[in-house]
Amino acid sequence: MTAGTPALMVFVSVVLIVAVAADEPPSRLEAEFSPHGTLRWDVGATPVLLIEPRRGDGWITVSQRMTGSSDAVPQIRAANPGLRQIRLDRPVAVPVEVLHGDLRLAVVRRIFPVDQRTEEGWEHEVLDPFSDGVEETWDWLAVLFAGRASAADSLRRANPAVAETGLVRGLSVVIPESRLLPVFREIAPAPTPTPRPTRVVPPTPTPVASPVAVGNGTGPLEYGSDGQGDYALYRLRHGEALYSAVVVRFTGQLLAKQVNETAMEIARRSGIEDVTSIPIGYPIKIPTDLLLPRYLPANDARRVSWEAERRELEGFLELVTATDLSGVHVVLDAGHGGADSGAVQGGVWEATYAYDIMCRIKANLEKHTRATVWITTEDTRTGCTTPRRNRIDQNRGRVVLTHPPYEIGDPTLGVHLRYYLTNDIILNRIGSKVPRSKTVFLSVHADSLHPSVRGAMVYVPSRYLRPTKPYTVGRRDIKEFAEFRSHPTIRLGTDFKARVEASSRHLAGSIVESLDRNEIAVHPNEPVRDRVLRGRGRPWVPAVLRYTAAGNAVLVEVCNLGNAEDRELILQHKWREDFARAVVEGLAAAYDE
Ligand SMILES: [Zn+2]
Repeated sequence: MTAGTPALMVFVSVVLIVAVAADEPPSRLEAEFSPHGTLRWDVGATPVLLIEPRRGDGWITVSQRMTGSSDAVPQIRAANPGLRQIRLDRPVAVPVEVLHGDLRLAVVRRIFPVDQRTEEGWEHEVLDPFSDGVEETWDWLAVLFAGRASAADSLRRANPAVAETGLVRGLSVVIPESRLLPVFREIAPAPTPTPRPTRVVPPTPTPVASPVAVGNGTGPLEYGSDGQGDYALYRLRHGEALYSAVVVRFTGQLLAKQVNETAMEIARRSGIEDVTSIPIGYPIKIPTDLLLPRYLPANDARRVSWEAERRELEGFLELVTATDLSGVHVVLDAGHGGADSGAVQGGVWEATYAYDIMCRIKANLEKHTRATVWITTEDTRTGCTTPRRNRIDQNRGRVVLTHPPYEIGDPTLGVHLRYYLTNDIILNRIGSKVPRSKTVFLSVHADSLHPSVRGAMVYVPSRYLRPTKPYTVGRRDIKEFAEFRSHPTIRLGTDFKARVEASSRHLAGSIVESLDRNEIAVHPNEPVRDRVLRGRGRPWVPAVLRYTAAGNAVLVEVCNLGNAEDRELILQHKWREDFARAVVEGLAAAYDE
């Protein structure tokens, strides 16, 4: 037994360990700290004091009472993600390193009972209760004992041996007397300081074969390799679930079936038996080939080429100004219709509500901007109207506005005709005076994804997933449509595809920002995407984006019908109107100075 053990024992002895199987390291330590509250230390974090708020408390009064000033409001707020206002029924986490002097000393004595005042200053023994050397940092120690992170360098210089090895459990660090906060400095040094040699305790074995951090070192992932190949390692934080915090975020999977399959694969790989009760901090292994490029190690070939492609794309962005969208032609499309209801969830048809939102975008564009608006489909019974009704009658009367109009019986032919119609509008009807950069194709859909996913997303066409050779639809029945006959072959130049991707990304970003500004939920991870991902299958770009001649092409997924909250929202006409207005504001902003 090492001298490092007693500290941990004291803390653990009064601790409630949450959701930990017998042979796994703890992920959370908790101890009563009356009358102030509860001390809590979570894996991957630093300790906090959880306090009960008082009646009338706000961030400022809590900060003043616990830290002695209101300066710590930002740190306290940061320690309480998701808590906008202080609420009587919710404990407030106060980082121990901002507590006022007496309370800070009391907490330090409790958490680090082996620490002591010596002739040189304060001798602190690294506790690192979760034994991976990330909880205690030089910056944190500097703030805790010296009151400011800028003292971290002088702490390192005062402890050169520890600076070499890192803050490993059981090592002693001396905080020089000259740096100590008064509350620590005022304590009399221990009468006979026992020499405590610096020593390294062998790290406790963890279920992980010590992964190596690569890349910039600040990301949430570490990387490693085992008998089953390369993986990235992530530790679940408080309140996170495998589906949303790992699969959706790091692999980009969205479809329920794929999210579930990938979650199961990751669970098997990580030795998790029950995905609904994974302890906080449990190391989760994600196969590297499933990661989105941005989460790969910095030197990984796939990430390197992805970054190079992104940089190259920036060179193709040409910003065009059009005040109030003057001179801009917008072709609006609503997904599905006719025989094709699109996604159906809880009795809600995607086709019906996508069409309603498309009509609202049209009405807002016509009312508030100077854009010229075209539509690709129309409901033959209702026209393009925007009823003040929450639920809309679902009917199958929708045509593509080709010559002749096509009553959508075969959804695939319906899709072909949408882009042939769009291209006919852009190439033949609006004339060559309108620069391609002022043409926009915008298709409205609603997603049907894993229920953990919420919010809007916008797809743009990746230049690499569009035809490289001239393309013609090879089916007989399309020949009766004038829009096909006028331009049967679609030709897309390499530079054109790059310019379209660049400006579409710009437009999509502007729409997403506007939605966010208007408090409409946006998908938290990568809301703008240039491809659809389905498991390990080949990624693809929706056909209406793939073959369009428009200079800007976006497909907006307004929300996820698979998520109950989103489904409730789309059933409200006010939400649909707000959504449409936000899209129009985003369009206008993209062409603003
Ligand atoms: Zn759709």
